Amino acid sequence: MTTIQKLQQLMQAQRIRANDEGFVLSLLRFAQIRGTLTTGQDNAAQRLIARYEQRATPQASTASTVPTFTRVDLSPIVRMFDAARAHGLRRASIRLGNGLKVSAASPTSANPGAIYVKRDGDYLGKITSEGREFFSPSMTSAEKELVREFAQHPLERATVYGHATGQCCFCGRELTDARSVAMGYGPICADHYGLDWGHQRAAQSVDVVDDVRTQAA
Ligand SMILES: [Zn+2]
Repeated sequence: MTTIQKLQQLMQAQRIRANDEGFVLSLLRFAQIRGTLTTGQDNAAQRLIARYEQRATPQASTASTVPTFTRVDLSPIVRMFDAARAHGLRRASIRLGNGLKVSAASPTSANPGAIYVKRDGDYLGKITSEGREFFSPSMTSAEKELVREFAQHPLERATVYGHATGQCCFCGRELTDARSVAMGYGPICADHYGLDWGHQRAAQSVDVVDDVRTQAA
């Protein structure tokens, strides 16, 4: 059975938890468009499937303990924004779609290591370096999922964004090169944000943009 078939099976069995659903849906969407997953996506999907298969093996009862916050490592995202700052981009941010943008707190701010979320310029909340979420009640569950998905799989999210919009997830310019579309960002932004472009798919990269007013609170 292929990775995609396994994901579909888990979805149909309604076994995917809310935390993972956005990511799984984005993979299925991607595979639908492209006919296949990237190596990075496939690896991430297989890790996810392995987690669910472990859980399915005869264990005690199925007490569903939903974590109160998502355990994420934001350091790849923070590194990317640090690179952008080093390139002189003072207001770096990345587009997730639907008007959502994410930026990273400056190292000298009150929340070093945190990421901020805005919708059409309005501050919506943050995820701290410990992975704690502080989301505005005005955020829909779909928006929260989108942000969580990005926090966990930034590169995959950039790719999905690039395919969905044909635009660079960082600067919003039209992507005219197949390699840029494959990454979700163009070569100039890749350079600014310290990401791979063109030769190989970055193993763990991320993405950003540059026109939001960062630093909310
Ligand atoms: Zn760009």
